[in-house]
Parts: sequence; structure tokens; C-alpha cells
Amino acid sequence: MKKVHNFYAGPSILPEFTYQETIKAIENFAGTGLSIMSISHRSKQFEATLNEATGLFKKLLNIPDGYSVLFLGGGASLQFAMIPFNLMIKKAMYLDTGTWSNKAIKEAKLFGDVEVISSKDKNYSYVPKGFSIPSDADYFHFTSNNTIAGTEIKHDFDSPIPMIADMSSDIFSRPVDVSKYAMIYGGAQKNLGPAGVTFVIIKDDILGKTDRKIPTMLNYQIHIDKGSMFNTPPAMNIFATLQTLKWIDQQGGVEVMQKMNIEKAQILYDAIDNSKLFVVKVDNVEDRSLMNITFVMKEEYKNLEADFLAFASEKGMLGVKGHRSVGGFRASTYNALPKESVIALVETMKEFEKSI
Ligand SMILES: *Cc1c(COP(=O)(O)O)cnc(C)c1O
Repeated sequence: MKKVHNFYAGPSILPEFTYQETIKAIENFAGTGLSIMSISHRSKQFEATLNEATGLFKKLLNIPDGYSVLFLGGGASLQFAMIPFNLMIKKAMYLDTGTWSNKAIKEAKLFGDVEVISSKDKNYSYVPKGFSIPSDADYFHFTSNNTIAGTEIKHDFDSPIPMIADMSSDIFSRPVDVSKYAMIYGGAQKNLGPAGVTFVIIKDDILGKTDRKIPTMLNYQIHIDKGSMFNTPPAMNIFATLQTLKWIDQQGGVEVMQKMNIEKAQILYDAIDNSKLFVVKVDNVEDRSLMNITFVMKEEYKNLEADFLAFASEKGMLGVKGHRSVGGFRASTYNALPKESVIALVETMKEFEKSI
């Protein structure tokens, strides 16, 4: 098999440790002689897995007391609806920085007034700055990393009202001050585990303020009370997620992840900035994502985009095509992507440039 490099945006690369440990657990989970696929989620072995995953979430992100960690189904997309269902009384504020924020806003509008600050005017190529968060809204929602547009908010805002972030594609990529948030959530399949498990970090005291009747499965309080076991959780995916958390811990935690991510992204951004063919799509350097690096060919070389994709794929660079809604290229440089893969992509870009 030829050497391949995985730049897919999601589902995406996970640590080799995660794959190997999950393979073992599929054969024989925790010495039970049974597969992780085939053992009760009420077994003490699975309960230990869930507890360990919750504990590592709290340790690695320094989550203060008063917060719960949930592992649910439905993807980040179900959270788009669960958030207003549980938390909106009258009005919320959303920062619209791309496709995913936009989808979250659409759901919120079903439940009340939504005030929006957007960067849609320039195709989401920047992150809005200098806006104020209204103190009369029930919560403020933003997407920290815009997986499709390639922008990222790499700091924690100060918000006068409960703050909620979709961190699907940059969770565990840097330290986060969880105490500033009412809730942080995301699908696991970008930086954490296989698709099918959604993590929610939620401050317990933000719940119970709406009179709305909430269906059981959509009610955060139920999931908190039942410890993510109201119904059968995605057990194997939680097991795999736990392996990634262990790997992050072994590497030295989120500070080490951040240092490696900055270094990897810098190598690729420098190569693009110094190339005669390629150009980064994001307007401001400080808004550039460290997780999803989006770029295109300069106007005069636009006709070479398909050729480059074919060349890159021939060289084993997989998943470099931009999202179907925006085109161009996207290289995802998540925690588990080794620096060697970034260097290999840069070499491929240089080789292509020489060949034309
Ligand atoms: C991928 C992604 C989603 C959608 O996640 P699903 O788990 O597929 O619902 C939402 N938000 C962001 C930022 C994403 O990258």
C-alpha cells in the first residue's frame, strides 16, 4: 500500500493509538472476552469507560465544578435545535461566521428572536470584530472554528450573558477557559473520535428557565440526571473517543496540542504565502484557522485547480479538495495529523509548481 496522508475535514484523522486500542476492544473489551459492540452499556466495564472519558474531559479542559459532560447522539446538528429548545426564552444572539453558524441560526429562529452579526457580506472570509453582545438576550452563540470557511476564533470572548460555542472542529486543539461558557458542544468526528457521538459540556445552573415543554430525549436535564444513559449511548464511539483523550493526555495535554498545531499550520501557511500559484482565502492573518487551512489558486492559474487535485491525489494527499459549497482546497491539520504529512503536502505543492 502506498503511503497516504489524511487531510479530510471530517470524519478525519485520529491517533494511531485510537485505532489500535479500538481494534483490540472490538475483539476483547476490558478482558471480558466480549466485543465492545456486544456488551451491555450498563456493564461495570462500560460504566468505567464512560466515567474515565468524563474524567479526562474535565482534567484536560480544566472544567470547573458545576458543569456536566454528556455524550449524546444526533451530531452537532441536533444541538442546533436542542440549545434554543432548552435555553431560549425570548431572544438570543448568534455570530454568523459560516455554514454551520447559519444552520444553528435557522433552528434558533423557530423558537424566538435572533439577533445576528454576520460576515456573510464577504463570503465568510473574516470574523466580525468590535460588536457588542446585548445584555437582554438569553444567550450568545458562536462557532469557534469554521470548518468550511477556514476561519477560527482562537480566544474566549467575555460575554455578559451565557455564552455557547460550537467547538466541533477545534475542541482539544488549545486551552479553553470553560468558566466563561455556559455550554460547549460538538460532533466528535473532527478532532476526537468516530462520527456518532456528540459531546456537550454544560453548566448545570443555566437549565430550568423556560416553561416550554421539552421532549425527553431533547431535554438536557434528563441526560444530566441519567449520566448520558437515558437511552443506549454510542458505546463503541465513546470508547474510541476515550482513547483519543488518553493520547492527548500522554502527549502532555492541550497546551502541547496547541504548540504542535501552530507549528504545523505555520509551515503550510508560509508555503502558500510564498507560492506563485496558491493564495489563502481568509482576509486577516489573525482569523486563519489552525485546523482547516483553506486556499485557492490565484486568478491567473484558476484553470489548474483540477490538475493540482489529481496530482496531489496521485502523491497520496487525500481529502485536499475544498468543501463542495466553496471549492478550492482545504487541508485539515487536526491534532492527530503528523507534521510529516504537512511537509509532504508542501513538497507536493512545490513539485506541482515546478511542473507547470
Ligand atoms: C461538522 C460540523 C458540524 C456538523 O456536525 P454533525 O455532527 O455532522 O451534525 C457542526 N459544526 C461544525 C463547526 C462542524 O465542523
